[in-house]
Amino acid sequence: GGRAEVRELWLARVDKIKLTYVHRQGVVMEFHPDRVIFEQDALEYPLGRQLWELFKNSDAEVMVSRSRRITGIPGRNPQESYRDAKRTLVFGVRRTLNFQTCRPSAHYQLPLTTSCPGKCEYCYLLGSLPGKPYIRAYVNIEEILDKARDYIVKRQPEVTTFEGSATSDPVPVEKYTGALARTILFFAAQDYGRFRLATKFTGIDSLLDLKHSGHTTIRFSLNTARVIKTYEHGTPALEQRLQAARKVFDAGYPTGFIIAPVIAYRGWEREYAELLETIRACFPGTSSLSFEFITHRFTVRARNKIKSIFPHTGLPMDEEDRKFKFGQFGYGKYVYAPPLMDRLKETLVTKAREMFPGARIDYFV
Ligand code: SF4
Repeated sequence: GGRAEVRELWLARVDKIKLTYVHRQGVVMEFHPDRVIFEQDALEYPLGRQLWELFKNSDAEVMVSRSRRITGIPGRNPQESYRDAKRTLVFGVRRTLNFQTCRPSAHYQLPLTTSCPGKCEYCYLLGSLPGKPYIRAYVNIEEILDKARDYIVKRQPEVTTFEGSATSDPVPVEKYTGALARTILFFAAQDYGRFRLATKFTGIDSLLDLKHSGHTTIRFSLNTARVIKTYEHGTPALEQRLQAARKVFDAGYPTGFIIAPVIAYRGWEREYAELLETIRACFPGTSSLSFEFITHRFTVRARNKIKSIFPHTGLPMDEEDRKFKFGQFGYGKYVYAPPLMDRLKETLVTKAREMFPGARIDYFV
């Protein structure tokens, strides 16, 4: 029963998406790709075929790629390539089913999508994504979840946690793939598995009525109005994110906030405190939220990439006030130097504890 039922639900959802797509006038489309590329093998999966039907008569340019190397995204310089890639959606098959570790947020990454249509100058993915950071969504979700089950079984009776946002913001493509809905239902049935996802986007309505059993945590990534305005392009406003957060909270999901990247610009103390006030105003009297804080950091590789895509970026990336730290994957990153780092931590964690007694502070890095 269970699995077939889940599958039915999922297919019903895909139908709904199709309708939304066809009648999209008046519907806010957060992400509407100009170009959709299907890897040939993706068409061997039911979801791949459904998506093909969905897009083949749409106004997007639709292509089939015979190789896994995606070509056909225009762009004569890094800025153009970036812009065009961010309007390109690739449906592919995830072949590497060894999940990478994902400290500090979870045990493993759960790879459902890579990249995202947002264009944040500080994006943590810029150093690791290919030259053209097109959005890729995997259609072999069942295989990916089967693999997650293997990992869960191996660590039983420990609970294993999976992060769905390590390589992307997975929400913008959800209306096409239904991957998060499927994953949330999968984890609802796992006694020893938990799922976490993080987003800046608001297309979460399709997740609200799902049976999640409290096994999926949804976090919204927020920042001060100034950071959003200055460094984020193509992401929803702070108020919209908070409204979406309120909805998932009201639907009973464990809900949290990632304040990232914390940037120590002039006036940060006041403005990050204001941000926490704004959150509190949306969640009066709530004690069950969780918080994660990630200070701004960059690798040399990411910095070069950022400067080639955003030549006029004002993102502070001087090495002077930074400390070099060896990272998880062998490459080093620059983080704030100790006195400043300590002050950021002390100030924000204290404020958060004061304003949200009972909330969980998962980490500050
Ligand atoms: Fe990167 Fe997240 Fe911004 Fe997307 S929304 S560009 S994943 S930082």
